[in-house]
Amino acid sequence: MTLNPTDVLKEVYGYDSFRGQQEEIISHVMSGQNAFVLMPTGSGKSLCYQIPAICMDGVGIIVSPLVALMQDQVEALSQLGVKAAAINSNMDLHAVSQAQQALQNNELDLLYVAPERLLMEGFLHSLKTVKISLFAIDEAHCVSQWGHDFRPHYTQLSVLSELFPEIPRIALTATADVPTRKDIVERLHLDQGKIFMGGFDRPNIHYSILPKNRPKEQLLNFIKTEHPDVCGIVYCGTRKLVDETVIWLRGKGIKALPYHAGLPREERTENQKAFLYEESVVMVATIAFGMGIDKPDVRFVVHLSTPKNIEAYYQETGRAGRDGLPANALMLFGISDVARQRSLIDDSNAPEQQKRIEHQKLSSLLTLCEAACCRRQVLLTYFGDESEPCKNCDNCDNPPEMFDGTIPAQKAMSCVYRTEQRFGLAYLIDVLLGKDDDRIKRFRHDQISTFGIGTDLDKFQWQNIFRQLISLNLLMVDIAAHGGIKLTIKGRQVLKERSTIMMRLDEKPPTPSAVKEPKEPMTFANESDQTLFQLMREKRLQMAQSMQLPPYIILSDRSLHELASKRPSSKDELHNIKGFGAVKIQKYGDTFLDIIAANSSSERMVS
Ligand code: ADP
Ligand code: ZN
Repeated sequence: MTLNPTDVLKEVYGYDSFRGQQEEIISHVMSGQNAFVLMPTGSGKSLCYQIPAICMDGVGIIVSPLVALMQDQVEALSQLGVKAAAINSNMDLHAVSQAQQALQNNELDLLYVAPERLLMEGFLHSLKTVKISLFAIDEAHCVSQWGHDFRPHYTQLSVLSELFPEIPRIALTATADVPTRKDIVERLHLDQGKIFMGGFDRPNIHYSILPKNRPKEQLLNFIKTEHPDVCGIVYCGTRKLVDETVIWLRGKGIKALPYHAGLPREERTENQKAFLYEESVVMVATIAFGMGIDKPDVRFVVHLSTPKNIEAYYQETGRAGRDGLPANALMLFGISDVARQRSLIDDSNAPEQQKRIEHQKLSSLLTLCEAACCRRQVLLTYFGDESEPCKNCDNCDNPPEMFDGTIPAQKAMSCVYRTEQRFGLAYLIDVLLGKDDDRIKRFRHDQISTFGIGTDLDKFQWQNIFRQLISLNLLMVDIAAHGGIKLTIKGRQVLKERSTIMMRLDEKPPTPSAVKEPKEPMTFANESDQTLFQLMREKRLQMAQSMQLPPYIILSDRSLHELASKRPSSKDELHNIKGFGAVKIQKYGDTFLDIIAANSSSERMVS
C-alpha cells in the first residue's frame, strides 16, 4: 500500500504544509525519477527522501559520510514511529547483524549507511535481495574535488546507477558552486534527473560583521547580552585560539567546550555530545566541527577569525537557526586574519591557478566585510540570487556612514612608503600619531614628513583606515617579512594618481559597561507564557536525560513555544501544534497537557 505524502507529513511529523519545493521533489522521486537537490541548511532536505522512503514500498538507502550522527537520525525517526536503522563501523557486531536481519526481512523504511559500507561487495550483493525504494546521497558535494570536503569513496557511488538503474537516486547538498554542481551530476550519473534549487536566503539569520576590537570581550558581551543560556558555536582560526577562548569564557561563567583536531577523539565525541544533549553549551571550535551537525536550535554562530571565503562563511553561519527561529551570525574581522588567510593560500601546495581562485574568493569575502549596503544582498548576489534590503542585518539596522577617505588614505600610504614598507600596523600608527618612542627615534622616523601628521584621528580610526586599505587591496601585509605592511601595485597607482577613496566610518564598539538589555530569542505575549515555556523546557531536559536523547528530538523549541501560547487542553488539540505527530502525541501528549493544565488559570483553558 502506498501512503500519501501529505498524510505522512501531518500524521508522522506533525506539520501542516510542505515547504518550498518539498512536495514537488517528493512526487518527482516517487514517480521513479532522479533528482539533485541543492537547498540551504535547515530548509528541510531530509524530508525530501524520508517521506518517499516511508510512502513507497521497500527500504530507502541513505548514504551519508557522517557516521557519528547516524544514530541520532535513526533515534529521531524512531521517536516519530518510523522504522529506521543504521549500519556503520561505530556499531557492535550484534547491532549490525540485527539491522541486517531487519533489512533482509523487509522491515525497514530507511537504512543509513556510510559509503565505505555500501560499496563492500557483500553489502551490495545483499541489497540485490531486498526491495529498495530509493537511494539518497546526502552531503553530495563530497563526491567532487571542487567541493570543500572531497571523500574519495564517494566517487565510486556511480556503481549505483549501474547496479540499480531502475531505482531513483536523489542527491542532496547545501553547498555547491557551479563547478561542484556539474561534477556531482556527472559523477552520480544524474544527467537525466531534475535539479531542484531552493532560494539561498536564510531570512531568520541576522548577520553582523564588526571590526575586531578586544575580540574576547566583544564575544563575551554578545553572548551575555544577546544569547545567555542557549547553544551557539564560536569558530576560531587556530587550535590555540580555541583553547584560549574556552579558558576565557569559562572564567566568565559560560559553559564553553573546545573542539579541534588536536584533541583526543574521546574528548571530541564527548564535547559534541554535550553540545547536542544540553541546552546552554557554547562550542568553541575550528572548522573541524560542524559538518552534519543538524541540531536545529543553535542560536548563534560567531566567527572570531575570518573564514576563508563566502561559501565557508555561509555554510558555517548556516548552522544557526535551522528551526527557523531568530538566530544570529556575528563575525569579528581584523587584518591579521586576512593576512593569515592570504599566506595560507600562498603556502599551500595548490597549483597557481587554484591559488588565484582562492585569492579572488577571499577578496569577495572582504568586500562583504567592508560593505556599507545590506549584507544579505551581498551574500545572495554572490550565489546568484537577488533580494531587497533585508532589515535583518547590521547595515540595515544602522546604515553606516561613508566619508571621503582620500586624505587619510594618502597619509597612511605615504607613511608606509617613507618607512620603507617593512613595519607593522602598530608602528605605522605610532609614527602617524607622532609618538615619542625610542624605536621611532632609532630609525629616525621622527624626521620624516609623515611623522605626526595623523593626530586629527585616533588609534582606532587609523586601524580602520589601514584595514580598509588592505581590504581594497591598496596595501598588503607581508607575512614572510614579519607582518610588514607594503604598497600593492594598485596602491602605488592610487597614491600617484591621488584617486578618491570612499570609506566606511566605523563606530567604536560599545565598551562592556555600555551593554544593551538582554534580548530574548523568542517573544512571548506575556510573562506567564514565558514561564510555562521554561517549565516545559525543564521537563523536556529531564526526559531527555533519562532517555539519553538530545532534547530537541523529543520536541523542538518551536513546538514548546506554540504549546505555551496556544495552551491546548486535549490530545485532539495537540494535532494543531507543529511537530506533534500521532506517535509523539501518544508518547508525550499527557505529560505536556498536564504541565499546561497545572499552570493555566481556568479562564484561559476555556478560551
Ligand atoms: P536540512 O537537511 O535541509 O538542513 P532538515 O531536513 O534537517 O534540513 O530540516 C530542518 C528543520 O525543519 C527540521 O527541524 C525539520 O523537522 C523542519 N521541517 C522540515 N520540513 C518542514 C515543514 N514542511 N514544515 C515544518 N517544519 C519542517
Ligand atoms: Zn540587510
